[in-house]
Amino acid sequence: MTDTLATSVPEIPIFNQFASDNYAGICPQALQAMNEANRGFVPSYGNDKWTERACQNIRELFACDCQVFFVFNGTAANSLALAALCRSYHSVVCHEMAHIETDECGAPEFFSNGTKIMLASGVDGKLDLEAVEQLIIRRTDIHYPKPRVLSMTQSTELGTVYTPEEVAAATDLARRHGLRVHMDGARFANAVVSLDCHPADISWKAGVDVLCMGGAKNGMALGEAVVFFDRELADEFEYRCKQSGQLASKMRFMAAPWNGMLESGAWLDNARHANSCARLLEKELADIKGIRIMHPCQSNSLFVEMPPVVSQALHDAGWHFYSFIGAGGARFMCSWQTSREDIQQLAAAVRQASLLIS
Ligand SMILES: *Cc1c(COP(=O)(O)O)cnc(C)c1O
Repeated sequence: MTDTLATSVPEIPIFNQFASDNYAGICPQALQAMNEANRGFVPSYGNDKWTERACQNIRELFACDCQVFFVFNGTAANSLALAALCRSYHSVVCHEMAHIETDECGAPEFFSNGTKIMLASGVDGKLDLEAVEQLIIRRTDIHYPKPRVLSMTQSTELGTVYTPEEVAAATDLARRHGLRVHMDGARFANAVVSLDCHPADISWKAGVDVLCMGGAKNGMALGEAVVFFDRELADEFEYRCKQSGQLASKMRFMAAPWNGMLESGAWLDNARHANSCARLLEKELADIKGIRIMHPCQSNSLFVEMPPVVSQALHDAGWHFYSFIGAGGARFMCSWQTSREDIQQLAAAVRQASLLIS
């Protein structure tokens, strides 16, 4: 059975994958840290020195006495964090392209027992604050789900970033109306290097209450950190993790890679590299006729509008990229493992395919 499965999976050459940053492998710093944690017998469920050190590293990173939890993936991190902030009759306001709305299979609603997600528009994946305010103040009666959380994604689903001032403006608005602020930071590192700012500047110092900080797409095998800057909001969060199957018994192997990433600086180096690959691709594609860059390239993805004949030719040639995310263009996602040579080859392939445009 295993053999059948293994042979039915197509061999994917490493050089040409731009579908997602989670196609990439585990970076050396994360793998080495995992290896170092693999020694003898160690207490389980997070009561170990690696997990303690990882929590401490995150506190130092943010210069904040935050409460930290490690869960297996981003869907769980977002859903459980939102559930901790909401009651079932509350609502969460987010961008219409937000991962919590489009890619989590209703998990945020499920784990909060019915909290409603309400969608605001905004160009380039960033919330339009007037639209957000309209959603919040539209109704104040008992028949409308009570707005309780503003959720922002940093970097956004469309590869843009909010500046520290933009984060602060959004959290100000939220606070004025009594809402808490959640940040989906699956690509938080990419935003930090893009803005060249301190992690605190786009999180707690700008008014974010809880951050779901991505590990997997940054170069780890798996795992995201749920970071509560307001410790009171984390009350009994460990029970939510356990009940939802997110409390790893061998927690050290999920926690240790954070030490490898943070202590070596790989979390920033990886993000910087991925961002620079996306910018190189933007530069390479900019002058190709019939190809249009759709959104400012501010993190590690590039969204491109191209005629169907071109994208089909690329798919036929074996290039992997998504076309269903965002406003319908092709999304090319770079990772720590993308090479400049990969970018040159992709650009050459696009150039060649563009000759098919009549
Ligand atoms: C990938 C991603 C997540 C996490 O997804 P999982 O597959 O559940 O780990 C969350 N938010 C955004 C914006 C993402 O791109």
